[in-house]
Amino acid sequence: MKVPVPGMRVGLTFDDVLLVPKFSDIKSRRDVSTKSKLTRGIPLNIPVVSANMDTVTESAMAIAMARLGGIGVIHRFLSLEAQVSEVAKVKRSESVVIEDPITLGPDSKTSDAWRAIEEHLIGGIVIVDADRKVLGIVTRRDIALEDDLGRSLRDLMTPLKKLVTAKKGISLEEAERVLHAHKIEKLPLVDAKGRLAGLITSKDIMKRRQFPSATKDRKGRLMVAAAVGVKGDYMERGVKLHEAGADCLVVDIAHGHSSYAVDTVKRIKRELGSVEVVAGNVATGKGAVDLIKAGADAVKVGVGAGSICVTRVVTGSGVPQLTAIMDAADAADDYGVPIIGDGGIRTPGDVTKALAAGASTVMVGSLLAGTEESPGPTILRDGVRYKLTRGMASLAASVDRKIREDGSKATKESELIEEVIQESVPEGVEGLIPYKGRVEEVVKELVGGLRSGMSYSGSHTVVELRENAEFLRITPAGYKESLPHDIKKVV
Ligand code: IMP
Repeated sequence: MKVPVPGMRVGLTFDDVLLVPKFSDIKSRRDVSTKSKLTRGIPLNIPVVSANMDTVTESAMAIAMARLGGIGVIHRFLSLEAQVSEVAKVKRSESVVIEDPITLGPDSKTSDAWRAIEEHLIGGIVIVDADRKVLGIVTRRDIALEDDLGRSLRDLMTPLKKLVTAKKGISLEEAERVLHAHKIEKLPLVDAKGRLAGLITSKDIMKRRQFPSATKDRKGRLMVAAAVGVKGDYMERGVKLHEAGADCLVVDIAHGHSSYAVDTVKRIKRELGSVEVVAGNVATGKGAVDLIKAGADAVKVGVGAGSICVTRVVTGSGVPQLTAIMDAADAADDYGVPIIGDGGIRTPGDVTKALAAGASTVMVGSLLAGTEESPGPTILRDGVRYKLTRGMASLAASVDRKIREDGSKATKESELIEEVIQESVPEGVEGLIPYKGRVEEVVKELVGGLRSGMSYSGSHTVVELRENAEFLRITPAGYKESLPHDIKKVV
């Protein structure tokens, strides 16, 4: 048996260190670039990723994150169909040209139009015949005041003779001119035979202006990642998510330095070569290298760092997050593969420290769970609004998963809980987090702090931030000094 020996390595986390300020020629926070990489092949304008947790990332969060220049990972604790639909909503939310617009036939009813509008979060539907020839368009406005849900769309649509269309291949500038000249919001594109060949919307054109840093794919659609597990339907899920347009699959397993994760990454890469794959979680250099050798295009690092995580308490295993990032990043450098620092981010300063330690991006969970865009309602307690956050290995999440996946026979909640406890010990908790409004505000604060942190270290880029990093280990007194002290805090 090996016993601890003097000189045993010390694991450090964010609060244990500070970055020593360096000479800086940066005049404004705007002069630094926060560009980084999620994976080998996916560049980001801001190095922030929303976590694949069921209280953090579904389509609304993923859309908001991509618009801001980051990216979201749609969690996998949904049925296959529901997860695919969340990915599709992101891909459909904006694009240069919508290549396969939602359509209905002229005999479809008002109720069908409402269903399509609500399901796909769109403002209008092109009406086509059996040959996909354009017959007209129905927008939200056309049906808003229609009481008869059984009425044919033929009676409500703007018919072809009154419709402005354009030829397939029209430039974006020309399309913008046409939309503006006719004061219309939707421009169906048609081929030589009058068949639907795409759709350009004024909303998409405006979004391009409103969110110039957005993370977009080659077709101008927002980018999105989606998580898969390592058991059950993971391969079928991966294929369907990829088909729906997911730009990246995240192989998500608590102990990612395992044959399960390695085999899953290899299989996905073998069968779906073109998709970018993130794998994790690991907490060591060896863990990162084994996943990279299996084919991972980025490695997610963090075991036990999460705000809702009790892995270290329950299992005694884990590595403080700053050390984990440093070890994994040092090892991954030889392969040019980015590291995602996942978990434990509580302040903007933590983001700067994680990137200075070698992470290319940070994954954020609970900090984003309190926002408007996270799934779930707000909860009012003693006059204060909250949202729920929970570990994906918490008792509540495991019970929900059991109901969804196994169709458990247990009828009472107590029996279900008993079943779950028999199978595993929860490694996560759930809790309330104060409601924080729009995610944009939270991300702005994180990125604003990062920009200032880069300025303090004289770094113009995220790469320079790591090169210039000089960490100083601090004492509890130093940490105490870092916080507001000796005043009565007002805000
Ligand atoms: P946070 O940003 O500190 O809230 O950490 C989020 C991260 O915690 C996620 O991205 C996961 O890696 C991790 N995590 C999520 N659920 C659990 C759990 O139940 N147990 C342990 N870690 C978890």
